[in-house]
Amino acid sequence: MYKKIVVLTGAGISAESGLGTFRGQGGLWEGHRVEDVATPQAFERDPALVQEFYNARRKQLLEDVHPNDAHLFLAEFEDTFTENGGEFLLVTQNIDDLHSRAGSHNLIHMHGELLKSRCSTSGKIRECQQDLTGTDWRPHIVWFGEMPLEMERIYRAIEQCDLFVAIGTSGHVYPAAGFVELAMNTCSHTVEINLETSAASSRFHEQIIGPATVSVTDYFSKLLP
Ligand code: NAD
Repeated sequence: MYKKIVVLTGAGISAESGLGTFRGQGGLWEGHRVEDVATPQAFERDPALVQEFYNARRKQLLEDVHPNDAHLFLAEFEDTFTENGGEFLLVTQNIDDLHSRAGSHNLIHMHGELLKSRCSTSGKIRECQQDLTGTDWRPHIVWFGEMPLEMERIYRAIEQCDLFVAIGTSGHVYPAAGFVELAMNTCSHTVEINLETSAASSRFHEQIIGPATVSVTDYFSKLLP
């Protein structure tokens, strides 16, 4: 029976909630090249385009997207597992808030959050549900080339865990793609759950192929006492 679990999620866990993944569409994110909307250089070059891209993502998230069975089961699992003395950390690369809405508690948004904004001059962070065009505020998102959040806490948890599970992530975006190596080095069991074989599959001890809504529930329910 595992005592300390770290779960890493990527865009694939939110795909069945209706949010587009990124690798699945020929490298485009909702029709845009990452270089045009998710880098500090893109924001300097064309702030209006970048703001509009995130305004549209934010609107979509608030209007018609809901947590799916995978988000919900992970939250339920965390409650039961921790009530029984286990430690559980959920690290997401996603900028949506579906894990929070599903009820996950010990959660790190390593790439920031769509429903937060950050002041370009003071660095202050606040909740954000409105469009940001033409303001001093940028989305509180970690763009490519920027430093992901809470890395020390994540590395410490992975070093100490005895099970590491990556769900719906392509294994292309570092440093998250390297977490499995750290887990392997510190002897945890490593599991990948994905719709298909990914760039990182061969680095895991165990691979489960299937949609997250089914595979996550099947796998984690077997770990419950
Ligand atoms: P990715 O788009 O590169 O890869 C998605 C992975 O999920 C693929 O390997 C795909 O096979 C798998 N997948 C697709 N549907 C699935 C399903 N139903 N069940 C299980 N697996 C499924 O995503 P990534 O690795 O997270 O990297 C993309 C980057 O883009 C991240 O940094 C993230 O911040 C950003 N992004 C975020 C969102 C979001 O917040 N929902 C959406 C798109 C991109």
